[in-house]
Parts: sequence; structure tokens; C-alpha cells
Amino acid sequence: MPEVAKQIVDQDISHHFDVIIVGAGPAGATCALALEDSGLQVAILDKAGFPRDKVCGDSIPGRSVKLLGQIDPRYQEILSKFPHTEYVSATRVVSSSGKQIIKYWNNRAYNCKRMEFDNLLFDWVKSDTKTTVFENTELQSVTIESDKVLLKTSSGNFSTDIIVGCDGAHSLLAKKLAGFTVNKYHYAGAVRAYHSNITGSTPNQNEIFFSKKAYPGYFWLFPLPDNSFNIGFGMLSKAIAEKKMNLKESLVAVIEEFPELTQRFSASGPIQQIDGFGLPLGSRNLPLSGNRFLLCGDAASLIDPLSGDGIGNAMTSGKIAAEHIRNYFSKGNFDAITNQAYDKAVYRTLGQELKRNTRLLRISSRFPWLLNSAIAFLSKKNFVSRYLLKKL
Ligand SMILES: Cc1cc2nc3c(=O)[nH]c(=O)nc-3n(C[C@H](O)[C@H](O)[C@H](O)COP(=O)(O)OP(=O)(O)OC[C@H]3O[C@@H](n4cnc5c(N)ncnc54)[C@H](O)[C@@H]3O)c2cc1C
Repeated sequence: MPEVAKQIVDQDISHHFDVIIVGAGPAGATCALALEDSGLQVAILDKAGFPRDKVCGDSIPGRSVKLLGQIDPRYQEILSKFPHTEYVSATRVVSSSGKQIIKYWNNRAYNCKRMEFDNLLFDWVKSDTKTTVFENTELQSVTIESDKVLLKTSSGNFSTDIIVGCDGAHSLLAKKLAGFTVNKYHYAGAVRAYHSNITGSTPNQNEIFFSKKAYPGYFWLFPLPDNSFNIGFGMLSKAIAEKKMNLKESLVAVIEEFPELTQRFSASGPIQQIDGFGLPLGSRNLPLSGNRFLLCGDAASLIDPLSGDGIGNAMTSGKIAAEHIRNYFSKGNFDAITNQAYDKAVYRTLGQELKRNTRLLRISSRFPWLLNSAIAFLSKKNFVSRYLLKKL
């Protein structure tokens, strides 16, 4: 018997819940929202007190906005009037040779600091559901037994029928229960900084620059309200290790590489220090569940390998986890075989896009000239580009 199992015994348990969600980021909050009306006793715990920051590009993809509308149309409405959001309708992509294309989005999307966005989602969990909320409560260890899951946390011990791991890129649950380890071929690193007064931005437009010096990484510049910007640089961990890259230095180097950026940053200053974090990519299929547990979002390695978008996939998996739990609770059966239905549903929904974008990432990493040529071609053929970009 593992050591942790000896530490948590039944008489230590202060609360039993039908479902415990660990992590109240987009994956966990969405799972709790989608379990509303389920009649189940649900708890969500997070090691942080909210509002809390999360290092991110703060680009809330259209998929997230659409999904919130499916849970409750009011949420879309509130988001559209939320003062901390910047509406985004297009992305400008600039190649290392300076050619550009603009992709116009089909779905409504926003930029919003995660400090504000995640807090908004969590506020909805608190106000619109009967979920029991534990903030400043860190999961320390977990034991799966035949009839329940035992959790040791910084606020006491809990037990549950099923545990949903939404505890992010450094997920304890993914490591302990699914044996995940960081694989540099399927992981990226990125840094983020907030700046003010960057000139020359087009309203409602995100920007991405592919650097020659720091290839195959990319630099982003995303506008936020009040003339502030989220800027950052990210790259596949394998390339970071091979090239011995320092991402903070690369962020500055890319601004110096593009004369356009150097000029636009001339009056700009940082609002906050540069922070970094990891991105577990969805470029391989992993087991997302097992006996009495499901993994969602970054804990399940579901970030789009090409764009780095993870919020939409995290929320999608959180919603699918809630549907799975609703379906199977009455049968009281959450064994590893039953839970495979969850993995199938996630990969049925996200798998095709993840596979296609993994292929595109591999091709563009191996043949940088191809990316330059593609952008140069599409920039000339405006009509064709609108059609092709819509397909991406
Ligand atoms: C630099 C960078 C830029 C990015 N830019 C974008 C972008 O612009 N758009 C986009 O869509 N995606 C972006 N991503 C990816 C995105 O941030 C993640 O995919 C997203 O946050 C995943 O949501 P989540 O709910 O799975 O995890 P998280 O948002 O990380 O939430 C996990 C939660 O679990 C809690 N937790 C962790 N461990 C424990 C524990 N032991 N006990 C209790 N609680 C715990 C944490 O406090 C946290 O609140 C970016 C990532 C990085 C690193």
C-alpha cells in the first residue's frame, strides 16, 4: 500500500462529496458550471485565493465564448459588456521576411487578463451553482480506493466518488494517477509581459510575429483595454533545450529584430515583470482518465500545439467531464473502462483539430522557408487567402 494511503484513514475525513474538482481555472470552473442542476454534491478546491493571476496570452478563443453561451446565454451577454475585455475580430501574422496575412475570425473572441476572466467564471460558480468552494486549499496527496477517492489537502481530508483533475500544467493528479511526465517534444515554454503605450496597433486585432533569430518560436502582441498590451514569446521545449534559449532574452531580441516593432515600442514601458510558464501540448493522445478520475485542460495536455490556445480546449474538456459524470453517476460506476468513454468524447471533439495542427507545427518547424512562402503567397492572393484561412 502506498505511503499516502496509510496517512488518510476514514475517521480523518471531514467531508464526503459526490464529485471533487481540483483546480478552479477555466477547466474546473466550466465543469462546475456544467454540473449545475445535476443534483450531485460537488466541491471545487483551488490552492489559490481568487482573483489570481495565470501566466497567459489572455486571448480568450471563440470556442470559449461559444461554449459559455451553450451553458447559459447570459454568460455571453455579460462577457460582451465586461469592462476588462477587448473585442478581437482578426489576427495579423507577420513572417520573418516581413510579409503579412490577416485572418478574420468567424466567432466572437476577446482578450481579457486571466486575473479578471478566471475570476468571472469562478464568481458564476459561486453565485449560480450549489458547488461547495474551497479556496487557499492545496491538494497534497490522493489515494484511489475501490469504492472512493481519498484526498489530503491543506484544509483537511476529503473523500469523493470521482475526482476531476483540473489542476493545470503542473498537475499533481496527472503525475500521480496517470503517470504523466514532461516530454520536450510535446511541451512548450513561454514568457509573458504587460506593456503600455505600444503604438501602431489596429483596433480589435491580435498580432503574431515569426522571428528569424528565434525560430521556430513566435512573438505575440495582444491588445487589452486602457492602452495596455499582453506581449510574449513561446517555443517548443525541445527547441529551447537544443538552442539553449533564454526566453526572456528572446522576447527582447524579437522586438529588436523587426524594425516595425522597435519603432512601435519606442515609447512603451513594462507594467509588470516578465513571467514564464509551461504549456502541455495536445500533440499526442494520452489516457485522460482511469479508475475514479478524469483529467481536463492542461492537466490532460490539451493545448493546441500550433496556436498555443488552451482555454477553449480546457473549457470543452471540463464540459465533457460534467456530461460524463451526469451520465454515469446513477450507475455508480467510475471504473477505468467506463471512464474511457470520457477520453473518446474528448478526442472525438478536439482530436481532429489537434492532429491537423500538430502536423502543421512539425512541417513549419522543419521547413521555415515553407511558412515564409505560404505567408508571402497568401498575402498576395487576398481572395484565395480569405478562403484558405477560413479553413484553418
Ligand atoms: C505564456 C502562456 C501563454 C498562453 N496564452 C494563451 C492564450 O492566449 N490563449 C489560450 O487559449 N491559451 C493560452 N495559454 C494556455 C492556457 O493558459 C491554459 O491552457 C489554460 O490556463 C488551461 O486552463 P486549466 O483550467 O486547465 O488550468 P489553469 O488555468 O492553469 O488552472 C489550474 C488551477 O489549478 C490550481 N491548482 C494547481 N495545483 C493545485 C493543487 N495541487 N491543489 C489545488 N489547486 C491546484 C491552480 O491554482 C489553478 O487555479 C497560454 C499558456 C502560457 C503558459
